[in-house]
Amino acid sequence: MYHAKITKLERLTEKIVTINFNIRLQSYPGQFVMVNVPGYEEIPLSLSSPNSVTVKAVGETTERLVKSEEGMYVGIRGAFGNAFSPSKSALIVAGGIGIAPLKYLYDYLRKCNAKVSVIYGDRTSQNLFWIDKFDKITITTEDGTLGLKGTVIDALSLENLDEFEKIYVCGSEGMLRATYEFLKERDALDKAEFSLERFMRCGLGVCGSCVVENGLRVCTDGPVFKASDLTW
Ligand SMILES: Cc1cc2nc3c(=O)[nH]c(=O)nc-3n(C[C@H](O)[C@H](O)[C@H](O)COP(=O)(O)OP(=O)(O)OC[C@H]3O[C@@H](n4cnc5c(N)ncnc54)[C@H](O)[C@@H]3O)c2cc1C
Repeated sequence: MYHAKITKLERLTEKIVTINFNIRLQSYPGQFVMVNVPGYEEIPLSLSSPNSVTVKAVGETTERLVKSEEGMYVGIRGAFGNAFSPSKSALIVAGGIGIAPLKYLYDYLRKCNAKVSVIYGDRTSQNLFWIDKFDKITITTEDGTLGLKGTVIDALSLENLDEFEKIYVCGSEGMLRATYEFLKERDALDKAEFSLERFMRCGLGVCGSCVVENGLRVCTDGPVFKASDLTW
């Protein structure tokens, strides 16, 4: 376990911050770390860069993290899990906080000169961030306060999927299922990779708390899965 110092906090919305550490982890986009906050639970968080996580307050531990201060120390184990596979022309589909691992992927692919388009949606524009960090982006909001009114599926249906070698997806369970169904109908599951979230304890494939429907473990078989390996 590393004892990592928080060097910089970037407040992105009322409930979301990026936490930068003084440690740069040997990692690839899609991998996650187990973050141990003294006095709280140890929780899984995707890397949003080699030295940061981007966290949304949803419960006790994430709320503590969102209220953390620069100079504070946390324990970090990882990086764990498998990563997204690279491509030369990519479509990124992000819902809500699902943009966190996909930002690391975007930066990585752009450094490799890949062509990358981004679809990024949320319920309302107040929840969106980093929208100026992507060269080619389609935004969707369900309440119509920014971009296309609707969901990421409405934006996806405007794309010519043949243009992309890979489609990378991360978001809430409902968004993932809807995207899976859409890509299945379009016969595009073979080129899609999904990052899944499940309750997780050990992060090492031992405890079994993150097993998904077909017996695969999110921590060691994922969190990134080929869509064709999933059985929704
Ligand atoms: C591989 C992986 C990567 C993740 N990456 C990120 C990330 O980059 N940024 C981020 O903000 N969050 C991420 N999460 C989710 C994060 O781990 C949970 O939000 C966190 O564990 C909640 O802890 P808590 O004590 O604050 O809340 P709790 O009190 O434990 O839970 C609060 C609410 O969140 C739900 N919840 C808790 N854990 C999970 C989970 N693992 N998956 C889905 N819902 C959950 C509960 O059902 C409950 O409704 C990731 C999860 C996994 C498995």
